[in-house]
Amino acid sequence: MFSPNLVLQVLISGTEESMPNKKAVALMWYCRTPKGWRRFPVVLGGNNRIKHGWVKDAGVLTHFPDGRYEIRTYKDRKKVYKRAGDNAADAMAARDREEHLEDAKVSAEAAGVKIAEEPGRLHLRKAALKFEQDAKERGAMEAAEVNRNVTAEFLAVSGLTYADEVTRDHVFKFHRALRARGLGDRTVSNKHKRLGSFFTYCKIDKTTMPPAPKYDAKMPDTYSKDENGKILAAADGYMRLAIEIGLKCGLRDREMHHLEWKDIHWEDSILRVTSKPHWGFRIKNSEERDIPIPADLLKHLRARRKTHPDDRLVLPTRNGTPNTKLLRTLKRLAKRAGLNCGVCAGCKGALGECRSWGLHKLRRSYGTTLLRSGLDLRTVQAYMGHANMASTMRYLQPATARESQRAINAIKWAS
Ligand SMILES: [Zn+2]
Repeated sequence: MFSPNLVLQVLISGTEESMPNKKAVALMWYCRTPKGWRRFPVVLGGNNRIKHGWVKDAGVLTHFPDGRYEIRTYKDRKKVYKRAGDNAADAMAARDREEHLEDAKVSAEAAGVKIAEEPGRLHLRKAALKFEQDAKERGAMEAAEVNRNVTAEFLAVSGLTYADEVTRDHVFKFHRALRARGLGDRTVSNKHKRLGSFFTYCKIDKTTMPPAPKYDAKMPDTYSKDENGKILAAADGYMRLAIEIGLKCGLRDREMHHLEWKDIHWEDSILRVTSKPHWGFRIKNSEERDIPIPADLLKHLRARRKTHPDDRLVLPTRNGTPNTKLLRTLKRLAKRAGLNCGVCAGCKGALGECRSWGLHKLRRSYGTTLLRSGLDLRTVQAYMGHANMASTMRYLQPATARESQRAINAIKWAS
């Protein structure tokens, strides 16, 4: 049997192929396959509906569920792909719109009229600037800085101009570039998440973003009593005070830079962490907190105050501005005191600044020590200024075998 309908269909498609002016609009499924990300024409079922997630791979109907729709058109004889989301009905509608637009263009061309297309393309560099500005407007200065760094690095690595050009491969390339810089898995993962926020800000399709790279959730590393003793012994009065404030009050880096004498409440032995609009510093989670100052640190603070009665900041630079070089000074101090680990990328780098020395590790030591000393989670959460308990719970690492020896011996295993 020969169906006349079939003949007609062949004729029509043959006619279309031979029309040079007609641009073929095709709906594609861009998906993850064992061989990487590939594009296939969508497969239609008997009801003329898209078989979602199914493609013909070398003629064989195959299921690649992880993907998104794209509309393929031609521009100057080059294939151009436009995102069409991950919903089959929406993608069909978008394809229809595109076909009508192409038809209109062909008709307009025939009539000697040109249809001006709405540019509507989002410029990544401009978007990155706005993204940074957005964080600044919210008073999130640290976030603004991170936003600037992450977007700048992504743009440099990908070499892209427009948001609609971003693909998963660009994100993977970004990961590789970060790793090549020697960054750890946790940092790569954090930068990835920040890039994801930028994509969301640019309204880039969610399926473009691969999941964040996994990393082992490491227990917060802390300094031993021995290390604390050695670094304090090597420090001058100024750095000793900085280290003690980190270790015994657990301040974040920027909280330490912006600590002022008026934040020290002598009569209550309290340190109050507050925003400093005049320095452009806002506290995280917008929540002020009071931290008890241990008696020995209070004594050292008093001594410092006596010799520096006119300072506004507790740890100022020579010019009386916030000292943002504290971290660097600490690393140099560790190096001079022979406390570098000797094996990390930092130690092996040109500057010989060890990765295992940092203000933030003083803060981690603080959190761990408070919990080990029997303070309850909620109190430690308040002192650390954690927005949620989960952050504080990370500090509940098991004590080392030696530290637990006495408690283990005290257990009555049998009666
Ligand atoms: Zn090191």
